[in-house]
Amino acid sequence: MRLTYVTLFEGLIASYFEDSILKRAIAKNLLEVDFLSPRDFTTNKHAKVDDYQVSGGAGLVFFPQPLFSLLQTLKKQSPNAYIIFPTPAGKLFKQTDAKRLAKKEHLVFVSGRYEGIDERVIEAFADEVFCIGDYVLTGGELPSLVMSDAISRHIHGVLGNEDSLSVESFENTLLEAPCFSKPPLYENKSVPSEFLKGNHARILSLKNKMAESKTQYFRPDLFSRFRVKH
Ligand code: SAM
Repeated sequence: MRLTYVTLFEGLIASYFEDSILKRAIAKNLLEVDFLSPRDFTTNKHAKVDDYQVSGGAGLVFFPQPLFSLLQTLKKQSPNAYIIFPTPAGKLFKQTDAKRLAKKEHLVFVSGRYEGIDERVIEAFADEVFCIGDYVLTGGELPSLVMSDAISRHIHGVLGNEDSLSVESFENTLLEAPCFSKPPLYENKSVPSEFLKGNHARILSLKNKMAESKTQYFRPDLFSRFRVKH
């Protein structure tokens, strides 16, 4: 998959690919990453990309010309590019979106800054508009990385052990059960004794119960959906 990041701050994103799983995914040619800066598509003398809002009100926004030129050029070169705008004023990004988008050949993430992006750019080019959570960040670089990381995990070959994908949080509408490692007793705290007895059916049943109670406690919204289904 090709990932293109449209950003004023390439370094914020590039450093994330310099280690660990996504670095290996690039080395294995499963991911290809590139960057475009709106400043390189400006027609004004000072390579300015932001301006005041015509409605008045606090803060600057990306004005349309640089992003229009950039995205028109990109679409000509890569007609299948699927363009995503991170914004708090979008639909919530979910695991189901990550899985679905992992099938695309070219994803483009357009990072906003300031008060955001002139809405006409979003109307003209957005295939999807996503919010990563109910809070406001200073820019779209982290949301772009959050989404592309979650998506990349679902590309075949990116994870060393793909079994982990099927028992994770949000599969089957539940959070994952608590995990434990060795030693069985640490600082006077023990792992659930059932986990040590080797009876896989009973371990699975206990894990399911723990997953349900964890979900009920932390995410009553998910738990009520689970109850409707089961
Ligand atoms: N004025 C905007 C609003 O109230 O909806 C917030 C703009 S925010 C300061 C600047 C940029 O950060 C946005 O254009 C978007 O790219 C990104 N951003 C901030 N929070 C986000 C979130 N929760 N989800 C997705 N993108 C976010």
